Amino acid sequence: MFSKILIANRGEIAVRIIRACREMGISTVAVYSQADKDALHVSIADESYCIGGPQVGDSYLNMAAILTVAVISGAQAIHPGYGLLSENAKFVSLCEKCNIEFIGPSSEMISKLGDKDEARRTMRNAGVPVTPGTDIIEDVNIAKEKAAEIGYPILIKARSGGGGRGIRLVHNEDEFENAFHSASAEAQSAFGDGAVYIEKYLKPVKHIEMQLLCDKFGNVVCLGERECSVQRKNQKLIEESPSPAITPEIRANMMEAAKKAALAVGYENAGTVEFLLDKDKNFYFMEMNTRLQVEHPVTEMVVGIDLVQWQIRIAAGAKLSMTQDKIFIHGSAIECRINSEDPDNNYRPSCGTINLLHIPGGPNVRFDTAIYQDYTVPPYYDSMIGKLIVQARSRELAIRKMKMALSELIIQGITHNRNLHLDILSDKEFVDGTYTTGFMEDFDKRRNKQKDE
Ligand code: ADP
Ligand code: ADP
Ligand code: MG
Repeated sequence: MFSKILIANRGEIAVRIIRACREMGISTVAVYSQADKDALHVSIADESYCIGGPQVGDSYLNMAAILTVAVISGAQAIHPGYGLLSENAKFVSLCEKCNIEFIGPSSEMISKLGDKDEARRTMRNAGVPVTPGTDIIEDVNIAKEKAAEIGYPILIKARSGGGGRGIRLVHNEDEFENAFHSASAEAQSAFGDGAVYIEKYLKPVKHIEMQLLCDKFGNVVCLGERECSVQRKNQKLIEESPSPAITPEIRANMMEAAKKAALAVGYENAGTVEFLLDKDKNFYFMEMNTRLQVEHPVTEMVVGIDLVQWQIRIAAGAKLSMTQDKIFIHGSAIECRINSEDPDNNYRPSCGTINLLHIPGGPNVRFDTAIYQDYTVPPYYDSMIGKLIVQARSRELAIRKMKMALSELIIQGITHNRNLHLDILSDKEFVDGTYTTGFMEDFDKRRNKQKDE
């Protein structure tokens, strides 16, 4: 086992990983930007090093600085968290060259699966159903012909896309050319790769993903699904497990497909296979995320394991001790992402000093965060400041518990989305579990209309 791990991230996820390390008796090394000198992950780590300016390009994406700290501090492994460098194949290959274990799959695996075009081909060849669409198309006229063949509406997607970027929804031929060029330009500037392809736009559709753990010896277990259809601009807002909408039969088939996907590429460590489920209950592979997911706690709550500790054990060469027949889903878990933004003002990001904080408690209530009383939320990073997660015997009870916990949560000094969550949890479509990825758009329209009246 490792004796020292560097955490190449910030915010709630850095805190989450440091906690897992401390429980396992592993020393921790934090890195931080000049804007984060008072951050919680810095104060709870055993050692910490400032690696550059507030902008992520100068600090949390500064590979040379992070690797230098790893070498100087004697860290044997790096945990990347999510976002930032977690899916950066170049960074992983540098770790490999420096003989530092990257807690995640190999650089080769990350390149293979991060290329959405290649991933789609690989999965199709392995017999996993894939969203209908094309390979990479360079010529806009050929692309237009293909789009007409598939039939509008279609999505243009970037080969190297992530975090909802490089995606364009196109309703008809007139919009096609502009969308094609703007998707490509956005992807070029965000990912240094302007290549795009076309997918059929499925609607109404649910986003359902499967959590996998794979060790270095070819053992794979699937820890059930998470439904993440409450999204705004392709960013998830509420996640739950199990999904209220799938039958045991669909679940079994989807789990098989997810395992097939992992085995097809010889996957290693924690990974998530994202699927779309259409109204006829057909499901399609969308992408595989080669990292810990933001919403991993809902799985932890229903399965009763610590995914981060397992990531560390697997990277250190341990065998999975659990087998599929010993994995049970207990009740129902829900996560609400608490964002410092103003839902009543077009979700404008908010920052400032938290002058009053009360974190809810009670049995099976978990709040993953890096904020504290008098902490100042800096303007440079993601607006997610915490995740509230609850678990209960049934979905109905989990919704009740979440409402109770949300109503106890007090964060003053910044604007946040607690009340929005309370409204969603009372919405009929959410309560009956029929909501799809279009839910938030309709929900916001209804809210705005109510406000105007
Ligand atoms: P999840 O399902 O774990 O929420 P996301 O795709 O939303 O996955 O990404 C997780 C986090 O990483 C989010 O905060 C998102 O903004 C960020 N992220 C994802 N991909 C990128 C990227 N390519 N560049 C910058 N940030 C990204
Ligand atoms: P990213 O890498 O940015 O997360 P994804 O390919 O996972 O991109 O898509 C992000 C979101 O967009 C999905 O969660 C889903 O809501 C929506 N989406 C993606 N592909 C389709 C599709 N073919 N039809 C309908 N919605 C889609
Ligand atoms: Mg995705």
